[in-house]
Amino acid sequence: METYDALLAAITPSSGLTRTILDPATGEPVGEAPVHDVADLERAITAAAAAQPAWAALGHDARSAALLRAADAVERSAEELARLLSREQGKPLNGPNARFEVGACSAWLRATATTGLEPETVVDDGETHAVVNYRPIGVVGAIGPWNWPMMISVWQIAPALRMGNAVVVKPSEYTPLSVLALVSVLNEELPEGILSVVSGGREVGARLAEHPAVGKIMFTGSTTTGKAIIKSSAGTVKRLTLELGGNDAGIVLPDADPKAIAEGLFWGAFINTGQTCAALKRLYVHDGIYDAVCTELAAVAAAMPMGVGLDEANVLGPLQNKQQLDVVARLVDAARASGARILLGGNPDADQPGFFYPTTLVADIDNDNPLVAEEQFGPALPIIRYSTVDEAVAMANALDVGLGASVWSSDPVRARDVAARIEAGTVWINKHGAVDPRVPFGGAKQSGYGLEFGVEGLKALGVPQVING
Ligand code: NAD
Repeated sequence: METYDALLAAITPSSGLTRTILDPATGEPVGEAPVHDVADLERAITAAAAAQPAWAALGHDARSAALLRAADAVERSAEELARLLSREQGKPLNGPNARFEVGACSAWLRATATTGLEPETVVDDGETHAVVNYRPIGVVGAIGPWNWPMMISVWQIAPALRMGNAVVVKPSEYTPLSVLALVSVLNEELPEGILSVVSGGREVGARLAEHPAVGKIMFTGSTTTGKAIIKSSAGTVKRLTLELGGNDAGIVLPDADPKAIAEGLFWGAFINTGQTCAALKRLYVHDGIYDAVCTELAAVAAAMPMGVGLDEANVLGPLQNKQQLDVVARLVDAARASGARILLGGNPDADQPGFFYPTTLVADIDNDNPLVAEEQFGPALPIIRYSTVDEAVAMANALDVGLGASVWSSDPVRARDVAARIEAGTVWINKHGAVDPRVPFGGAKQSGYGLEFGVEGLKALGVPQVING
């Protein structure tokens, strides 16, 4: 798309029911989203099922070439997509935010297009010749959240298309424009019917999950909704990849250098203003360096500008919606009332327009405080003191979620030993939340199941078939 207005025009419905989407930083209108219902979903699934066989018949090389062209299309429209994302989601253009997210979309499209998946010969001993291959599933449903709406949609769409499936996307009702715009740009390079968006509410998601013509659901969102999808998909024994909520722990070992790790800790916790599934949400710091880590982290955090996303100076934005703002405010207020020490923030400006909550650090807080035990999903980080590593590992593992975690230390060997004891899908060393299209990603415990990215991610979008003989 050549201009922002052209991008918006391409996704603005000419008829039918619409809903005005408001900018969470200013309350100003961003655009009109269609209000689709289950009848629209039926039409999209029928079209996807009709278009899928020809797409599958193209083969891996042609589909990969189409994904690479789609990555080029995203790059051509990158600035317009980033502006729309910033206005609808709230995240600033600058920093690891809107431009970064659009860049990740093209990077993941390219990586998915160029990852090899050859038939795998598992036995060839003269008597048995067994080969595992991956056939397309058919129609895949992609249901996404509002925090990284474009990037997470690409994580779901790209491997599904690459493996020969058609995709019907159901974006979050909070951020439909971002996904509609992304898909409109991708569709500049894809055959008709292969990829569509149904911009509806929960009932549309629920119907997608139970629909007999849909073979798999890629879901990213809360654990509660994940459980609902398991139930609604049971009748058709649908395949599922579930990337659910997390409450990631970070453990700072006594040998870490507080000054050296402060910026990494900050972005691990506050990327996308804390609205990130695999963000650092509970920080455990050894008693011996507790005060130094608090001081260094507070210095970094206090210097990070928060404000309206289109202002290039800002690297932190508002919460995306009022509901999430209320969750963060409730949890910080409860922590304060319990006697925890507010190191920074905790004092939202009631007169400021938009859903802003200041960057907040909470020290001397108990491990069972709700700000620690619940996923706050916003710019508030509890810092818990520990005295033995066993105690820290036990606290990190005490919850029923396990998406990511991190260990911070000057000794990588020691850090890896501690990492291996943590019940999480990924444990980073001296960083947190760094995802990579070549490295599998997925949750442990109630953070979900199934892997995304890399060759594992491709396999998850195919039906394994063994040819034996
Ligand atoms: P949510 O579960 O409220 O909504 C996600 C999507 O599910 C939306 O599109 C929604 O319309 C749809 N939905 C709601 N009810 C449904 C139902 N019964 N059947 C089918 N679809 C339904 O999640 P959210 O608030 O948008 O996102 C925040 C949550 O997502 C956090 O918990 C966060 O940790 C998690 N998340 C996880 C990952 C990951 O990779 N593990 C990534 C991003 C976000």
